Amino acid sequence: MQLQKLELMIQKSNNIVALLGPGILEECGLPNFRNDDACYEVESSYGYSPTELLSAQFFETRKELFFQYYKEIILKKGVPCSALYALAKLEQIGKLKSIITTNMYNIEEEAGCKNVTHLYGYVEDNKCPRCGKAYSISYIKNSISVPLCEKCQVAIRPQILLIGELLDNGLMTKAANAIEHADMLLLLGTHINDYRMGKLIQYYTGNRLVVINDIVHCADSNADLLIKERPSNILPHINF
Ligand SMILES: [Zn+2]
Repeated sequence: MQLQKLELMIQKSNNIVALLGPGILEECGLPNFRNDDACYEVESSYGYSPTELLSAQFFETRKELFFQYYKEIILKKGVPCSALYALAKLEQIGKLKSIITTNMYNIEEEAGCKNVTHLYGYVEDNKCPRCGKAYSISYIKNSISVPLCEKCQVAIRPQILLIGELLDNGLMTKAANAIEHADMLLLLGTHINDYRMGKLIQYYTGNRLVVINDIVHCADSNADLLIKERPSNILPHINF
């Protein structure tokens, strides 16, 4: 019944926007910290919580431990989940116009998705804060302790949003514009009350707001369609 309703909504829509959250990362086998066990594991290994370790303040003051955690945990390699392949197909047929993600990996692109906005930046993008030279993930991974710019000998900065930093205004405006013009908004692996996504969702004025997430929050009852499932258990089974 829910699948049929979703199928019908997609058939009627020609300007779909998808917002992707940590549930998608979980399905791709990437770190996401949406469950307490994963947070506890990090805390017992590193002595700090994931939110402390990934904060701007921690990067400034404890670079060695930051990069140890970053290389061991954050730079894990994932495999695109089937929901992402379904999104790529939806994009190819012209229905899905924009994917907005808080994921810091180019896992969406690996599945073939094209128009992806990474609100939090992504781990493939690393630069020297002094001269701007770009560095690959393998350079970061293979460095001993803190990765340094070959020229300036200063710590390379992964171009990701650290906790305590402000979101890029240009990216937020781009995302808000896409949502404002959408005729359907798909929330995948995230929820209506997410502290950053929530603000963006307010720009949507249509009547096809769909949440697909295995963890449901009370505000999700405001969705036009709520499916309590993992997106990969749903999207590949839709005919469009
Ligand atoms: Zn440099």
